[in-house]
Order: sequence, then C-alpha cells, then structure tokens
Amino acid sequence: MSRSNRRNFIATLASGVVGLGVAGRIKAEPAGARSDQGGPSAPKIKKFNPLGKTGLKVSDVSCGAISLFESNVLRYAHECGVNYFDTAEGYLRGKGEVYVGQGLKEVRDKVIITTKHPYDFRQKIDRASVIKRMEDSLKRLQSDYVDVAMAHGVGDLSPLLNNQEIMSAYDQLKKDGKVRFTGFSTHNAKLTLKQALDTDFAQVVLVMYNHMEGKEIEPLIKAVREKGIGTVAMKIFAGGMQGNLKSMVSPEVSYPQAAIRWVLSNPDVDTCIPTFSSYSHVEEYVAASGRPLDRAALAMIIRYRQQAHNLYCRVSCTECLSSCPNNVAVNDVLRYAMYFEHYGMEKEAMAYYAEMEPGRKPLGCGDCSGHCEKACPYGLKVKPRLLHSHDILTA
Ligand code: SF4
Ligand code: SF4
Repeated sequence: MSRSNRRNFIATLASGVVGLGVAGRIKAEPAGARSDQGGPSAPKIKKFNPLGKTGLKVSDVSCGAISLFESNVLRYAHECGVNYFDTAEGYLRGKGEVYVGQGLKEVRDKVIITTKHPYDFRQKIDRASVIKRMEDSLKRLQSDYVDVAMAHGVGDLSPLLNNQEIMSAYDQLKKDGKVRFTGFSTHNAKLTLKQALDTDFAQVVLVMYNHMEGKEIEPLIKAVREKGIGTVAMKIFAGGMQGNLKSMVSPEVSYPQAAIRWVLSNPDVDTCIPTFSSYSHVEEYVAASGRPLDRAALAMIIRYRQQAHNLYCRVSCTECLSSCPNNVAVNDVLRYAMYFEHYGMEKEAMAYYAEMEPGRKPLGCGDCSGHCEKACPYGLKVKPRLLHSHDILTA
C-alpha cells in the first residue's frame, strides 16, 4: 500500500471507529488464532456466556434456523459446540421446527431450544389456543419442553402483557414444565426493551442488532442485561449483501465473521444467531467464536458500511412511512426483498409478501413522485427499489 493510500486507509479506519463507537472494543488477535479460511479440523466454539439470569450457558455463536433444508446441519453445529438453536412456529411454514426436532432429538438434553409464536391482537386470542399452538410446536420439535418460548415480532409489549389469556397460558405452560423461560423477539427495540425493564415476562430478548443499526439501542441492551435478561442478537449481517458489493472479498477476514465479531465485541450481548443453512455456514460462523474484533475485521466492517450505506433499508427504521400518501409498508417490503435477494429465502419471502395487506404494498408507486426518497435519511432510491421488490416477490 502506498504511503498516501495507507494514510487514507488509516483516516478511514479512524473515522469509522468513531462512527461505530467501538474504539474500546478493538483488540488484537492472540498469537496462533484460527485462520479465517478454516483448516482440516472442524472449528469449535471457544466461548460460552451466561444467558442473563436463566442459569443457562450459551455458545457465543448460536444458530438461527430460519432457512434450513438439511437437519443434519444442526447436528453438525452441535458437534462444533453450538448449543443454542432458535426457530419459530412459522419458519418454513412449520417445517423449521420439524428440522430442529429431527436434527437435535438425540442430543436434546445438551441443547437449548427457543421457539417463537406471533400473536395478532386484532383477533380474539384464548388461552387454550395459545397452549395448543405450543403443544403443536413441541410435537414438531420432538421434545417435551422448550427452553425459551418467545412472542414473535413484538412491536409494542403492552398488548401482549395486558392479554390475560396469553399470560395465563404461558404461566400454565411453565407450571407444566413445557416452557422454562419466556421472552420476545422485536424489531422495535427502542420501545420494547424499555418496556422489558418493567416486566418479569421478559427473561430473554431477541433483538435486531448490527453494525449499521445498533448504536442507539446499546444503552437499552445494557440496561436489560443488567436486569438479568438474556440478550440474543439477530440480523447481525446488516442485510448480508456482501456478495453484491465490491471489495468485500479478503484473504484476511470474511465479512460474516467480521460482523459476528463486531456484535460479540459488545459485552452486553450473550449470543448471536446467524442463519446456519449449510455445513459451510457452520464452519465459517463457528470459526468466529471467541475472537476479538481486531483492526482487519473492523476495516472489513467499515468497507461494508460505506458501500451499503444507501442500499440497506434499516429494518428498525420507520422514517419514511409517514411521508407516503398510500400507506406503503416500505420497511417490510424492502425486508422481504432482502430475504429474497440476500438470505436465500425466495419462497418464504414471496409467501410473506403474499400475506401482506394489499393496501400496504407498493402498488401505487409508479404514479407517485417518491416522497419516501426525500424522507429517507440514508439516501436510498426507495421508489425504484420498491418497484423492483414487488416484481421479484410476485414473479
Ligand atoms: S413512491 Fe410514493 S407511494 Fe411509493 S412508497 Fe414512496 S411515497 Fe409511497
Ligand atoms: S427506506 Fe430509508 S427511511 Fe424508509 S424505512 Fe428504509 S431506511 Fe428507513
């Protein structure tokens, strides 16, 4: 690297460090640390953390089982030391829990399983149906219990906590030994983590947290962690679009590993759940366990941020929604497109999109001047991206 390039690089790194607020989190790799490219032997989890005050200890790199097609991948992850597995009633239309059950039934007592159920508060919900849904999940999981049962995709905890039918059902499930701990997953951590501080229902939380949209919720993650709530991070790859960005290939460090190391450099995060869809995912992600965020990994993160800045629709962002005269759910549509284009979840993304209320889809965008683009603080070309998203999600 020439002297001026080197200076530019260092300046960029320094400004990125400031923007990321991670100056105190950068650490050098110990001598002899595992290479990013793996080796002849399978990688192993190097670090386990307490999951809040549950008494459970979880691998720092854990498994999101959202788009899994081979249950033995989970068994391999377990052999590599992963002991926390996250699924949901709706993943792969019920098949997600089936794969988890098939892959882990023989090691059930050695692993921690979380499953999640969404609740539509516009509908009447009764206690018996909540219990039945959990029992159906247990059948698919081939287990008598789940370690953590979460309400899925909670934007506001109030309707959940005020629903006596759901609360009573979870109490019963705990008494019966079918659920050990409860919690919720959320894309709206700014509100829900605050609310979690005032309830005992939240023993574990699953929050969206990555290097592009996590900074503002760090004080809340810290607060819930201090209360003894287990903290699990999801969507840690910030869109996972590295395959479509220039200069993201490096012999020194892989972007997914850098993103994992960034998330885990926050000591208030107990574990993270990248999606393990293949054996190669297991090897790549597990190899990031226990490794500090060093300068090479941080440089990779900064390159990604620079290139994805005006491409990545922040999942927790709602800034442009009020500018739209047609009430389009911009963030949801672009999230489904992200699942389609970057997560390898084409069918699921199309199914999610098909289930959206027609009135929230970008059907009138063609005739609109694009108020949402002016409202987006990140400079996304929102209108063409919405039109493109509709095309791919309905093809
Ligand atoms: S292009 Fe217009 S109609 Fe479409 S989301 Fe943006 S503001 Fe709404
Ligand atoms: S398009 Fe921009 S403003 Fe709208 S939700 Fe995405 S990131 Fe936020």
